[in-house]
Amino acid sequence: MGAHIETGIDIVRQHLIDPEICIRCNTCEETCPIDAITHDGVNYVVNAQVCNGCIACVPPCPTGAIDNWRNVLRSEAYSIDDQFGWDALPAQHEEINAPVEVPAHNDEAPVASDTVGGSTVAPWSAARPYVQLYTHKAPALATVVGNFRLTDAAAPSDIRHIVLDFGALPFPVLEGQSIGILPPGTSADGRAHHARQYSIASPRDGERPGYNNLSLTVKRVQHEDGNGVCSNYLCDLKKGDVVTVIGPFGNTFLMPNHPDSHLLMICTGTGSAPMRAMTEYRRRRRATGETGKLMLFFGARTRGELPYFGPLMSLPKDFIDTNLAFSRTPGEAKRYVQDVMRERADDVAQLLGDGNTHVYVCGLRGMEDGVMQTLEFIARSHSLDWPALWERLRREGRLHLETY
Ligand SMILES: Cc1cc2nc3c(=O)[nH]c(=O)nc-3n(C[C@H](O)[C@H](O)[C@H](O)COP(=O)(O)OP(=O)(O)OC[C@H]3O[C@@H](n4cnc5c(N)ncnc54)[C@H](O)[C@@H]3O)c2cc1C
Repeated sequence: MGAHIETGIDIVRQHLIDPEICIRCNTCEETCPIDAITHDGVNYVVNAQVCNGCIACVPPCPTGAIDNWRNVLRSEAYSIDDQFGWDALPAQHEEINAPVEVPAHNDEAPVASDTVGGSTVAPWSAARPYVQLYTHKAPALATVVGNFRLTDAAAPSDIRHIVLDFGALPFPVLEGQSIGILPPGTSADGRAHHARQYSIASPRDGERPGYNNLSLTVKRVQHEDGNGVCSNYLCDLKKGDVVTVIGPFGNTFLMPNHPDSHLLMICTGTGSAPMRAMTEYRRRRRATGETGKLMLFFGARTRGELPYFGPLMSLPKDFIDTNLAFSRTPGEAKRYVQDVMRERADDVAQLLGDGNTHVYVCGLRGMEDGVMQTLEFIARSHSLDWPALWERLRREGRLHLETY
């Protein structure tokens, strides 16, 4: 339920998720070691009967929606059905608002599953990010200044490069952060559509250097029974359209800034967005003589479905070591990023063994286990102590996973 408070009456600190800020990314539900978090088609909620206040879910939440607490009488704790019906958090009852501390991490509580898990801290040399400058109550407005298809016209997947301009509105971002888009309209139950999250694909100084703009890499989600709400809204935007934005979000999936740091980037599809942002940041700073290496593993079904294929191919070979994997090229064997990583195992192992290497994995949720197993395989086959290395990578903010 959260924390018990010594007041003479039975007041508890109930852990709640703010439905106005939550972007329904499922991170909290995945992280909770005791399955106290669940969701319906509308809200993510915390079961007060199960939650033990271990707060394992708090650091990974990209928006901070998870970090909400209300003092309630134990007998009047909000049920999960109450929470499913909320559009906003209830106010704190003043009469039971005893001064309390938000619980510290409960070391006795079980920790998050060890089969998954990247860092919940940023690299030591990362710049300080701004987060949640714009919220549902006070969002930012951005103007669409570009919307280009990245995938071949004949390819089944429609992935777009969308450029948003914030004009005079401050919207500082870092590579690896994301923004939330509020699509217009309401869902079947009459509620406003919730925000969807999109990784920023441009570096901190703008899609166009010196401009107050950023880019997204958006895949149109289409189903037989209906299409994804926000991705179709975004992919159909025209130049001059105005979009409602919240964020920025994300304070751990950030790039290191020390010059000899290496980036090992593994992605599929739109997971290329943060990799493009980081790569472009490094490319623009090439003249400064930074010595860190960039190694990229990038998977797609075919060459025509690989976003940024052309620009990627024109990057200098001594700047980035690019390895592509195509799983559906006619007449060729299926190759996934894990296969190509194995082919380059010696070089991957060398990077893994270097304390300046930072690993980033982004793309479809299904890739995460396979990539982690491959990293483990490569480490073990090169006499690296994987459990110790993995723990060190996580602790030092050098292993970042963002799959959706
Ligand atoms: C941290 C993070 C970063 C992200 N970055 C990106 C990014 O850079 N680019 C990007 O394109 N996406 C990104 N996403 C995903 C993005 O937020 C959205 O989830 C995605 O665009 C789909 O949203 P939607 O509104 O179009 O679909 P929704 O309407 O929300 O539908 C989403 C899901 O619901 C199910 N669904 C919906 N309708 C149907 C139906 N009719 N039949 C069957 N199933 C259905 C499917 O599982 C579908 O995938 C990111 C997500 C996270 C959490």
